[in-house]
Amino acid sequence: MNLMTRRHFAQLSAFALADAHLSASSQSGNNASPTAPRRVGFAPVGLGSIAEVFMGAVAKTPNARLTGLVTGHPVEKGTKFAAQFDVPKDSIYTYETFDGIRHNTAIDAVYIALPNSMHCEYTVRAAEAGKHVLCEKPMAISSAECRRMIDACQHAKVKLMTAYRIHFDATFRKVRDLVRSGAFGEVQAFQGGFYGMKNKQQWRLDRSLAGGGSLLDLGIYPLNTIRWITGEEPAEYRAFVATRDKGPKFASVEESVDWLMKFPSGILANCGSSYGQSGTDFLQINGSTGHVRIEPAFVYGDAVLKYTGTTSSGDISGGGPVYNPDQFVSETTYFADCVLNNTQPSTPGQEGLADLLAIEAIYKAAGAPIA
Ligand code: NAD
Repeated sequence: MNLMTRRHFAQLSAFALADAHLSASSQSGNNASPTAPRRVGFAPVGLGSIAEVFMGAVAKTPNARLTGLVTGHPVEKGTKFAAQFDVPKDSIYTYETFDGIRHNTAIDAVYIALPNSMHCEYTVRAAEAGKHVLCEKPMAISSAECRRMIDACQHAKVKLMTAYRIHFDATFRKVRDLVRSGAFGEVQAFQGGFYGMKNKQQWRLDRSLAGGGSLLDLGIYPLNTIRWITGEEPAEYRAFVATRDKGPKFASVEESVDWLMKFPSGILANCGSSYGQSGTDFLQINGSTGHVRIEPAFVYGDAVLKYTGTTSSGDISGGGPVYNPDQFVSETTYFADCVLNNTQPSTPGQEGLADLLAIEAIYKAAGAPIA
């Protein structure tokens, strides 16, 4: 094991320790019983596919629990998930009775897992009910909506976090730290992409609910990750959208989008996303003396994120099984810690807003919404 590799493993151990500390510190809040940990009570809003993943993660999260459910199907989904996750039946809400959560002291926070165009309304209503908000990506369908959400949460003095699970993944944190330590020399360029229609729900193809096509759903992953790793905001954009399927499926949202971003430092980023292309998901970072590629990069579930590459000091290919088996647990643990310790999340509403500003700039550069 060469020096650089040893140092990478040492860094990895530090991540493991940091994660252990995160969990341990989560246990130290106040609670009715002096021995039991204080757990933040969550109510997911919209019990679709990602909410089900979230509920499973909460069950494994040391400082969180499910204390409410919000669904348009209270009898079917509400009853089923209440039984599965031990949520009291009188804590099942519909979209009509949602505002009643203000009287439920067991609900500290909501997790917004609705179609994109509904994120703004339910975040604002949750804030008005005095509840913290963990909101799925994309934060909303416009920068104007993001600003409304930020204002509402600031006014109500509740926390607003955009659910960027990649920020809580050990592989990505390791790669980001390697970049920032200069392990690849001066960073020159990124390439990133996310392809294929992983979730086939019809609302994703309806602009009024989705706000756009593959860019808001998939392209946002490389976009956000590159912004996060560079720590810069893109200064210039070039983009194309293309929709080869001329049938009714893509009548209101684009099928594919490719875009280029130039950052103030001169870093270039070349990205793409598509609902129509059978492809993988990856992030490549090219520095002046090394490079790294993460692939798969953005899927969740059983996928093991892998990275390969070289640094100025040697090969880091196959750098070990460095992945986070459950990004949703890390993310929820972190947000619950922010609530318990009254700290500002590292992916606040402003982070979601920055992505929407970039998305608006990409669509503007492309010139045509569908093509
Ligand atoms: P989904 O279709 O599986 O679930 C959406 C839920 O909203 C369903 O329970 C549905 O009944 C409900 N709903 C309420 N009003 C609706 C309406 N008018 N039309 C359609 N559904 C309505 O979708 P999903 O895949 O769970 O995505 C939900 C959100 O989560 C999206 O914003 C998506 O971008 C995000 N997401 C994030 C990740 C991630 O990895 N972080 C993964 C998938 C989805």
